[in-house]
Formats: sequence, structure tokens, C-alpha cells
Amino acid sequence: MEKFVGKTIFKGVAIGEIFFYDKGDSTIKRTALPESAVESELEKFQQARTTAQEQIHALYEKAMKEVGESEAGIFEIHEMMLDDDDLIEQIENIIRTQLVNAEYAVSIGGDNASKMFAAMDDEYMRGRAADVLDVCSRVVSVLTGKSTGANFDKPIIIVADDLAPSETVQMDKEKLLGICLRSGSVSSHTAILARTMTIPAVTGMDIKPEWHGRQAIIDGFEGAIYLDPTAETIDKFVQKQAEIAEERRLLQELKGKDDVTKSGRHLKLYCNIGSIGDVALVQKNDAKGIGLFRSEFIYLDSKDYPTEDEQFNVYRQVAELMAGKKVIIRTCDIGADKQADYFNIPKEENPAMGFRAIRICLERVEMFKTQLRALLRASAFGNIAVMYPMIISVDEVLKIKGIMGEVKAELDELGIKYDKNIEQGIMIETPAAVIISDLLAKEVDFFSIGSNDLTQYTLAIDRQNPKLESLCDTHHPAILRMIKTVCDNAHAAGIWAGICGELGADTTLTKTFLEMGVDELSVSPSFVLPIRNIVRDTE
Ligand code: PEP
Ligand code: MG
Repeated sequence: MEKFVGKTIFKGVAIGEIFFYDKGDSTIKRTALPESAVESELEKFQQARTTAQEQIHALYEKAMKEVGESEAGIFEIHEMMLDDDDLIEQIENIIRTQLVNAEYAVSIGGDNASKMFAAMDDEYMRGRAADVLDVCSRVVSVLTGKSTGANFDKPIIIVADDLAPSETVQMDKEKLLGICLRSGSVSSHTAILARTMTIPAVTGMDIKPEWHGRQAIIDGFEGAIYLDPTAETIDKFVQKQAEIAEERRLLQELKGKDDVTKSGRHLKLYCNIGSIGDVALVQKNDAKGIGLFRSEFIYLDSKDYPTEDEQFNVYRQVAELMAGKKVIIRTCDIGADKQADYFNIPKEENPAMGFRAIRICLERVEMFKTQLRALLRASAFGNIAVMYPMIISVDEVLKIKGIMGEVKAELDELGIKYDKNIEQGIMIETPAAVIISDLLAKEVDFFSIGSNDLTQYTLAIDRQNPKLESLCDTHHPAILRMIKTVCDNAHAAGIWAGICGELGADTTLTKTFLEMGVDELSVSPSFVLPIRNIVRDTE
């Protein structure tokens, strides 16, 4: 037996035979064409492009059914990529001017586009480099008649260098026991898909083709793979699998139950979402509300500022779907790592400490008012609250309340209905906001601690910098003391305080948070039932 340790993508245990997915020799032959063959080669390319788009569309529909809207979105992007005029023109031009076969032109065109994306400043655009390669290799496969993806007819653990999202979603979930990769990143789309599909997965492994056909165990908890495990090791992990299944079954029994401690303390256990598609996961995991709707994703998905009606429709639908449960919508937190070109934010030395979030809203007041109008109008259709990000002063809160007052007066004048008592809260995600939380508490209805940014600003650790990950002690006493201070100051003013940053989902701290008096935790949907379990088990 051999054991290799890498990184965890999804915690779980898989036991089975390895299928080594070798993408094979991907060299594409360059064939010279006579000039007379150019037109038919161009036609061949167009037909292959259409077939590839149809295949991608089928994948989109499959992903929608199996993993939901937000994860399926990547295939919509892939479909659009094959409509991109620049890419098409480039490929056609290579066929025409270099007099070469279509598959060669597509692979060169895809390579060029991928290098261009990889060289961009914007992290999101850099991420598109792999996507353009993925779609172009599909067109090449259509042209060459070679199939894409791994085909297996029995349950297997797939071992590969990396998997494209399209390859992952094409696989038969019933037969895909586990995933072991050499180089896929923990935050890649494939990793996200594996987590959504709850498939035990690890990465960072020094994989070898000779592993094909051998027995293995993936231990997603340790981020390890065992090759040719001994009977004893198999027994141990079979037992672990039974424990996991039992744990999941027990968690399902918690659906419909309250988030209340043994001594009767209620916790608001809510979810974080980024789009309307995520509401299905909120419902599936039985959360009692939404504690953070990152509205900036609506802005990031648009080519221009989203209109009042576009925003209103989304907010209204989310409020209606949640059927009277609380939906806390955070106003646009654009800037720093979340950039949209049309905002035209000048390049900054330190964008995380730059022109972002509420700072933009207070300068671009019309944009802010558009969002507030959409939010207020939607508040007539459900239980909406509004929350403002990146606050550092009482003055900001007073300005926001002034603008909110103006928007309300405009709606009153037009006779448009809205919730006159809509709750307004702020995110506590700067050390300044923590220190003056006693003063801020007098001005708002609730606090929600953004531990992601609060940690980066308190420990002076850029949350985007993977090199500093080892220094980033999320349990740092400074952070825990800050959370306590915020709760105490909130309660002294008679308001509630919650946590919507990732720390809220740290189950090793759930009891500590309850002791500190945290009133609300807003977490990714899959954490709701494990946290409910701890809460109900706490005195
Ligand atoms: C936070 O900073 O903790 C937070 C919830 O906001 P975001 O992660 O969107 O910056
Ligand atoms: Mg934040």
C-alpha cells in the first residue's frame, strides 16, 4: 500500500478502481490546403462550431438539472465564447491566409485567445484562459471525430492531470466515485462542481498512468489517496463511509427543526447567496433566511449598470421565493477583487483599501438611489432588509440614511408601496467600525460582521494573496475579541449582531459564538444543518 497526500477539494471517502484519464496526444496535425479548398474548410469550421455549441448547450441543460443555475452558468459562457466575433474572425483568417486545415486553425486560434486572457490584469478574465481552450478543443474534437471526455462503464475513481468543467459535468455521476487531480486548483470551477455534486475529491497529487486499474481509497478529509490499500485500511474506510452516511442521514432529520439551544436560546441561521439560483440550495438545506445576498453579482453579470427594473425583478423574486423569511440584501460591494469594466474605476495601488463598496455608492448617488428604489419596491413583496458594506464612520451612515429618506419620499410621492419600516443594517468589516460600534449601533437596526475583510484589515493580510495563507490565523484573538465587542455594543443599544463572513461557518467556533452572544450566523447552504446540529446540542 502506498499513501500520497495533497489538498482537499471535497471531504468524503471513495473506495474503488482507478480510471486513469489520459487526454492523449493532443498534437494537431497541420495540413496544407490548396486555395480551392478554403471555402469548404471554412464551411467545415462553421458546422463544427454549431455542433460544438449544441453539445455545450446540452451540457448546460444537464448541469442545470444536476447542479443548479450558478454552476451551470459556466456552460452559458462557453456557448457565448463560440459566438465571439474576434475568435471566429481570427480562426477564419488563419484558414484563409495560412491555407491550413480547420482543426489546426481552431487550435492555434484557441491558444492565442487563451494566452491573451492569461496575460490580463483582471483575475476573472485570467480564469477564462482555460475556458477558451476547453471550447476550442471541443470544436477540434468535432472536426477530428475524436470523442471528448472520459468514458467508463463501471464505478471508478477518476485520476487526471486536471479536468475541465465540461468533462466533469459530462461524467456519469452514478459511476463517479471520486476525483484525484494533479493540478486542479481548490477554487477552480471543477472543484466547485465536485463540491456541489458532493464527490470526494483531492488535488496536488503526483499521479501516474500505471495507476490505471489499481484499487484506491480517496480520503477527502486528509486530502490523501491510498494505492492498493490493505484489507485492514479498506475496512477502516468502509466504516468511515458508514459513519458519514449516518451523519448525513441524521442531519436530514434536522430539517424543519428550530435553531435553538437546549436552554432555549434562538440563533438566526441564515444563508449567503450570490444569485437567485442559489435560493434552491437555501431551501434544500432548510435555512430560515438569507443573511447576505451579495447584490454586486448582478452588477458583475451585466455589461452596463443594471436598471432599476432588472434589479427589482431579482430582489422581488428572491423575496417571494423565501415566502416571508428574512432576506438581507447587501448594497453593491463592487471594487477590490470584484471589478466591472463599465464602472471605470481608475487603477489603484491598493484596491482593497481603495474606491470600493459604499464609497462608490456615496459618490455615484444616482446609481445608489437606483438600487435603493429597486430594493424598496421589492420590499412590498416579502421580508427584505438592507445592509451597507465597508462602513468606517457614523457620518457615512447618516449620509446613507439621508439618501434612503429621499428615495422613500420620492416613492411616497408616486404612491409606490414599500415596507416603511424596512430594517437597515451595516457590515462590520473594518477595525474602525468595530471600535466605534457603540456609536454606530445607535443609528442602525443590526450589525453583520464581515469576517473576511475584517480579518484582512486587522491582520494586514491581503485575502487574495495565497502566499500569506499560512499566516492568516482566522482564530486570532484580535478577531475573536472584536466579535465580542461588536456583540456587546449591539446588545447595549438593543440591536442584534451576526456574522456573514466565512468564519461564521467554522463549526469549531459555533459554541464560542453562542457564548459571545452572536445572534445570527449566515453561511453557505451546506453548513446550515451541521451548525443546526451543534446549536441544538449546546446548553
Ligand atoms: C466579508 O468581508 O466577510 C464579507 C462577507 O463580504 P465579502 O466576502 O463579499 O467581501
Ligand atoms: Mg467584505
